[in-house]
Amino acid sequence: MFVVGCGQKDEKLCKYYIDATYNADSQTLGCEQSVLYTNNTDNALGKICFFLYANSFCEVASSKAYFNKTYPNGEDFGKIEFESIYVNGQSTNYEISDGKNILSVTLSNKLFPQECVKIDLKYTVFLANVCHRLGYYDDTANFGNFFPIVCVYENGGFVKNDFALNGDPFYSDVADFDVRITFPCEFVCASTGQKVETTENGVTVARCEAKKVRDFAFVLSKKFKVLTKECDKTVISYFYYNDENAESSLEIAKKSLETFGELFGEYLYPTLSVVQTNFCFGGMEYPNLVMIADDITDNGYVIVHEIAHQWWYSAVGNNEFVSPWVDEGLTEFSTALFYEKNPEYNLSYSEIMQNAEETYKKFVEVYTKINGQVDERMDRNLNEFDTEPEYVNITYTKGMLMFDNIRRLLGDKKFFKCLKNYYKTFMFKNSSAELLIESFAKSAGMKIQKLFYSWIDGSVVY
Ligand SMILES: [Zn+2]
Repeated sequence: MFVVGCGQKDEKLCKYYIDATYNADSQTLGCEQSVLYTNNTDNALGKICFFLYANSFCEVASSKAYFNKTYPNGEDFGKIEFESIYVNGQSTNYEISDGKNILSVTLSNKLFPQECVKIDLKYTVFLANVCHRLGYYDDTANFGNFFPIVCVYENGGFVKNDFALNGDPFYSDVADFDVRITFPCEFVCASTGQKVETTENGVTVARCEAKKVRDFAFVLSKKFKVLTKECDKTVISYFYYNDENAESSLEIAKKSLETFGELFGEYLYPTLSVVQTNFCFGGMEYPNLVMIADDITDNGYVIVHEIAHQWWYSAVGNNEFVSPWVDEGLTEFSTALFYEKNPEYNLSYSEIMQNAEETYKKFVEVYTKINGQVDERMDRNLNEFDTEPEYVNITYTKGMLMFDNIRRLLGDKKFFKCLKNYYKTFMFKNSSAELLIESFAKSAGMKIQKLFYSWIDGSVVY
């Protein structure tokens, strides 16, 4: 079923077993989670760290993120509360950071390289009434980033991203998931991975298995209708409740999968779910699942963009907090490529680039007027962007223009070779700004590092 061509050995991947029960009355998700973690580092580890995105809706964090559009019913709070944490069957000490974003679990014995540890976590996720990745609103309950996920270990430590107002503050390793979701049978479930459902006494249990994915998400709704279509080895499902052109939405999803498969390399998973949700930021990508806001009327642009993320973010990972352009710039550029290859959608590549250039120039002009200067550096943490327009213009728009510039310099033959090699090299792994640039330079056989860095450090002037 699952076609892979990966150098990593299966047994070294982290394995997550999650048993989750949704209570629609209390808007909570009760979870029992076991994590089998193998130490793939060269160091002996005394603790394992987890990122707790569910706490970004807690009072301390969410008050900073108050927007009317995210909380149409007024500000509300969510959180994650732990009942117990065990390491290899023994109760253990654990600590949650002051910012509430990091859980550190102490190991009673050092975990040496190649050794494996089992961590059992029992916890409850309290959903906020919010149109966001994690939360419930009128039509859907969204479960993005609901569970404690092991932080990536690099350069001698666990990477502990902060929460961020703009962008997606996520970074994780590829892992295997076996998730059981229990919910009232009036709901329909869309999820990452392959799903088998049974219903008894008014309760549905969905068992979802996903291999070699860097996250797991699901959405529940009583209103979902479902359309499916096969695309080579993949079944695409469209879960929707507010789309008069549902067939067209499914069709553009299929064309996206085909187009990107041809341009970058094959999509390697058996399922892809496109899911309408109550969501206030257009769309959100997860492995095998993309959330599309139910108020979008863009003839599929967001669907194309989020599906491009299945290549850049999902298969090829990167620290989205540190270098958001690495996946967003390339994804936005890939969206333009989709329209170039599918002229029936009447949106030309050159038109997209021209609009992007004009939008970017306007942004620089306005921000210079307001602030006297504008910070055009692309490679900065999400928290270093002061406003949403600044984040979008620098990361998406400038990122897209940069890849267009590189394409024109290299010519299509070399440029598409770079993209294909980049996908093949970093599939199921983590990339970075430096690794992307070195990969492109190597594939092109040209010293293009300086050009990349002049865009990234802000010295290219429009
Ligand atoms: Zn994106």
